[in-house]
Amino acid sequence: MALLCSALAACGPTPAPQIEVTGPTMGTYYAVKVVQPPAGLDAAALRAGVEQVLAAVIAEISTYESESELSRLNRNSSTDWVPVSANLYLVIAAGQRISALSGGAFDVTVGPLVNLWGFGPEERLDAIPAPEQVRAALERVGYGKLELRADPPALRKQRGDIYIDLSALGEGYGADRLAAYLDGVGATHYMAAIAGTMRVRGTNAKGQPWGIAVEQPTPGQQRVQRILPITDQAVSTSGDYRNFFEVDGQRFSHHIDPKTGAPVAQRLASTTVIHPAGADSAMMADGFATALLVLGEQRGPALAESQRIAAYFIIREEAGFREATSTAFERLRAP
Ligand code: FAD
Repeated sequence: MALLCSALAACGPTPAPQIEVTGPTMGTYYAVKVVQPPAGLDAAALRAGVEQVLAAVIAEISTYESESELSRLNRNSSTDWVPVSANLYLVIAAGQRISALSGGAFDVTVGPLVNLWGFGPEERLDAIPAPEQVRAALERVGYGKLELRADPPALRKQRGDIYIDLSALGEGYGADRLAAYLDGVGATHYMAAIAGTMRVRGTNAKGQPWGIAVEQPTPGQQRVQRILPITDQAVSTSGDYRNFFEVDGQRFSHHIDPKTGAPVAQRLASTTVIHPAGADSAMMADGFATALLVLGEQRGPALAESQRIAAYFIIREEAGFREATSTAFERLRAP
């Protein structure tokens, strides 16, 4: 879900030079800002570098791109070991770790259900599927039906029709790859975002922490609920207020409970996770934000506590919203 980014304070010393590029990617948008860019990095070079990275990510893990490595793997009905690239292995393995920690609330094999409910690359129907269709899709779902081998990287499906959907990790993986590119060209102060998932290093043009605004989870509006000061961290928000359809006043959003086969229906509207910077930190923030949302108002905060995840929850109430935070989140905010 989209986060807005803004400077924390309106006044202060003269801003440092900054270059900024934005554009479409992954059915959403990217935004990259670099403060005090290293010599030789201008906006045109930055755009070219960023778009090259994003094209590589899409070629690896997109289910929207029929010739990506993941789409070819999804079409491969072999139940033998299939070699995969180190990068695809990395993302699927991260998903499997989050699945285990979340007791299966997060599950990259949920793809057939995502597609059935109209939230995947296939035609969007905005309709409730028949129970027998849900039952048939559920038989193909279960992270335990996937086996992974690290060296050399390979994957084995228990059923040939397992279909993997990495959309809950992909924006984060992309942001991590952008951060690696920016580190590689010598950038030391930057913000690299794909929609509501981002990696942040150093400070903004005013020498202050980057201000990451978490949206109020109200469909069709862009109001700020809270601004989080972030530096050297990854942030990701998942919510039910952008990608959904309604039937008879009931909302069906794109987060699917792999146990029931249906979109989660609950009061927890948005989850934001902050993760310390590291090679896969945006991917982990992205995945955990989805996992906590699927787990819901009670079990989501419980997992955040047990795993010391810095999480910020926005819960829909009769009148307005209620916020909840994990202990790790409050520690980050402590002076
Ligand atoms: P998140 O909360 O981060 O993830 C939600 C998504 O995770 C769902 O939409 C579903 O796909 C999946 N999911 C649902 N339930 C579960 C669960 N229980 N466990 C695990 N996963 C679950 N969209 C387009 O319209 N056009 C494109 O061309 C396009 N290209 C893409 C390319 C790539 C490489 C990726 C990663 C995504 C692409 N998308 C595209 C998808 C789109 O950007 C998604 O909406 C987005 O990735 C989901 O991110 P989010 O922040 O909205 O939600």
